[in-house]
Order: sequence, then structure tokens, then C-alpha cells
Amino acid sequence: MIRKLHEKFTKKELSPVEYLQEKLSLIQSQDSIIGAFIETEAEEATEAARQSEVRFASGAAKGLLDGIPVGIKDNIVTRGRRTECASRILAGYRSPFSAHVIEKLHAGGVVSMGRLNMDEFAMGSSTENSSIQKTRNPHSTDYAPGGSSGGSAAAVAAGFVPAALGSDTGGSIRQPAAFTGTVGLKPTYGTVSRYGLIAFASSLDQIGPLTMTVDDSRLLYEAMKGHDHRDSTSVPKEAYVQVDPSPSKLRIGVPFSLIEGSSPEVMKSLHETIEFLKKETGAEIIEIDMPHQKYGIPVYYITATSEASANLARFDGIRYGKRAANPDSLNDLYETSRTQGFGQEVKRRILLGTYALSSGFYDAFYGKAQRVRTLIQQDYLRAFEKTDAILMPATPTPAFKLGEKTSNPVEMYLSDVMTVGASLAGVPALSVPGPSQGMPIGLQLQGPFFSEERLFRIGEKIEKAFPVKRVSLA
Ligand code: GLN
Repeated sequence: MIRKLHEKFTKKELSPVEYLQEKLSLIQSQDSIIGAFIETEAEEATEAARQSEVRFASGAAKGLLDGIPVGIKDNIVTRGRRTECASRILAGYRSPFSAHVIEKLHAGGVVSMGRLNMDEFAMGSSTENSSIQKTRNPHSTDYAPGGSSGGSAAAVAAGFVPAALGSDTGGSIRQPAAFTGTVGLKPTYGTVSRYGLIAFASSLDQIGPLTMTVDDSRLLYEAMKGHDHRDSTSVPKEAYVQVDPSPSKLRIGVPFSLIEGSSPEVMKSLHETIEFLKKETGAEIIEIDMPHQKYGIPVYYITATSEASANLARFDGIRYGKRAANPDSLNDLYETSRTQGFGQEVKRRILLGTYALSSGFYDAFYGKAQRVRTLIQQDYLRAFEKTDAILMPATPTPAFKLGEKTSNPVEMYLSDVMTVGASLAGVPALSVPGPSQGMPIGLQLQGPFFSEERLFRIGEKIEKAFPVKRVSLA
């Protein structure tokens, strides 16, 4: 899609400003139903598109992404613009600096289109934890768009933007991609800088693209990745490992015992895809055993909440955002600002994480979780000794309805069962739409560190065989 747009811009069949206007008017007429954007940055976007147009006019376009509008999840900062993590505690916050990915994309001529809704501080699986608004699934508006990058996924699925940025800590790009029939990539940990991504759980957080096509995912990933000295976990150039993007005889591992609880329509989609890969591409399907994956959810929720409790300590009412009025004391200022500023799920996680890290419980919870995390990583390393990639569902069920899981947080947590493993192991994972009759179904490809291009190539085969039904809102 992006390559086609670029061709139109180059041939002057369409200008970046015209395209942006088209998208802005679609948002204007339809986003009151979908609720993807917290705010469009129409003025700044129009100026950026105008500059891009000048470059195209003089034959000096910066590359394939020049003039392409991209929506930004509300936890990735841009200098001078608002970023609130869909939280009251950051109401009105403007960042004094830009995220590394924003610097890189803007340098490539990308037009930032505005802020997309999310679960508060990226904690959730349905975007219902946003303190700002509800987001609906464009395929059927009674359904959740997934989360936490639900605004990003809905904006792409609705055709408001060709691409959006999300963040994935335990599945927040892949799960909403699966729910909305879009493509979502969680890159290898450390390949895309976290500088300027407001931290949730630092050892898991990664920024990645949500797009309509696999090729667009590739273009954005290639543009965003690269070493950044301001992120201490950013992979230095010399540490990259070359991975064969097209092994001649593709071996695909499927962890059947792990996924057997998935819904019938998800299993059907997976089996159809397996048959297709066997017949049409000659891939060998290998059953793999990943014995520690069943601990993924508890390990993830202990690790993520522990890190969140530390990361969110900075929101104290003094340095950023909301400050309680007329406090009695310094402690009262902290307490009241945090009580008023954070929503229920964020508070629940701060409490869980503080508990897991507290002296006396540290070894039993956090320490143990880290040891099991290593075993989960080893499951992956072992699997990749005999396979080139893993195929499994991205989610155990298609999209659930809005309101269906809000009263039971544990049930909501369980919907991440397919995605947390790759996050804990740090390996790349791509969610692509699989065959489906009703609501979209996402299939997930996972590969060894730095194997993104291999995943894109397999993903493109699936995409070609099972084209997605596009939403038509107009
Ligand atoms: N749904 C998961 C959670 O609630 C994942 C969130 C994410 O990846 N940001 O923590």
C-alpha cells in the first residue's frame, strides 16, 4: 500500500496534501463512531504534508515513506506535542523531546497524524482502560478492537491511516492486529529504540508498526530500527546476527499442545493455513514442545507489574502532569495526585508489582519469575534449533465484545496467553490475518532473534493466499 502511494505521489496522480485531506475528512465523519484518535494534529500534519509535496514537486522526495501519514499511540512522545498515555495523570503533558522512532520517521518525511487511543499506560487487552474514550472495532462496533494499542489497530482497519505505531509489552500490537484484521509486528527486543516510549515494563516494551499489509510493516520496521545510545538496551550494530530470510526448505514449528484450548474458528484458521503452507510452499510442519510456556501468563504478570510499579513511581504530581490541589503535606500531595490521576487497572498493577518486589516476597515472586523466564527463553532457543519459525494463533479467540471481560481482570489477562512468550523471550513476532468467516483471526509467526525479514516473507505468503476483508465505513 505504501509503495503504491509513493508511486502515485511520484507520478503526481495524488499529492501528499490531498491524501492527508482525504484521510482527515474520513476521520472527521467516522471517528465519532470508532473513537481511534484522541486528537488529530491536522495543522502540523498539513504543514508536514505540504513540505513533502514540495519535495515531490522538485524530485527530492526522501524515500518511500515521504508524505505517508502515520498515527501515533499516545505513549510515544513528540517534542512540543501532547502525550498522555490515555491517563488523567498526564493530562496536558507536552514532551520537551521526541522519541527516537519519531526522529527517524520524520527524517524520512513521514507525516505524524495525531494521537491514538490506548489502555491507560498500555495496561490492558481491549482499550477499555483508557481514561479518555472508548474505541470500537471497525469490523463490528459492538466488539473490542483489542489492546492496548486498540486505537492504532482501529485507525488502520478503518482506513483512517495507512499505518500506525503501537507498543507491545505482552501482546499489545499483535492482539489488536489480530482483532482488527491488520498486520502487527513486535520486533526483536532492542532493535527499535525505546527512547521516548513512556515506559510500562522496560525489559519487555517494544515499539512496532500496525499496518494493512506485511510489506508496509517491513517498510516501517526498516525505517525505525537502529542503534540509539540513549536506550541502554538498544542492540549495537555489531551485535546483529545475519538470519537467512528464505531458508530453502522451510521448517515451521507448531506448539500444538499449547494452543489446543483455542476456539474452533481459530483452530480452523490455523489448520487451513498449515495445509496451505505444506501444499503450496512445501514447508515441513513440525510439532514442537514448549513445556514452560504454560507459565507465561504468571511470569509475565509478575514481571510486568513489578517493572511498572518502579517505572510509574515517577508520576508523583511534581514532575509531570496532574498535581492535586491544596495538599496538607508532601506525602499528601503524592498520594492525592496518584489517587486522582491513575485509573483502577493501573493502581491494581502498581499494588501487585510493589507486593511482588517487597522484601520477604521478592524471592518467591519476582526472583522465581525471572528464573522461569529463562526457561521460557530456552524453550524458544530449543525450538529454533529444528525449525525456522513458529506458527500459532495470535489470540485464543477472535475479538470479544466490549464489556465482556471488564468485570474480570484475570479473564482479560488470560487473553494474552499466545503473545507473552515471545515478549519474555525477546524474539520477534508478527501477527497476520489468517482465513476467517466472521470476525478477523490473527495468526502469529515467531522467529529467532533478528529474523524479521524471514517472518515478513512467510507472512506475505499467508497474506496472498487469504486476503482480508476490508472494512467499508463510508
Ligand atoms: N494485555 C497485556 C497487559 O495488559 C499486554 C499489554 C501490552 O503489551 N502493553 O499487560
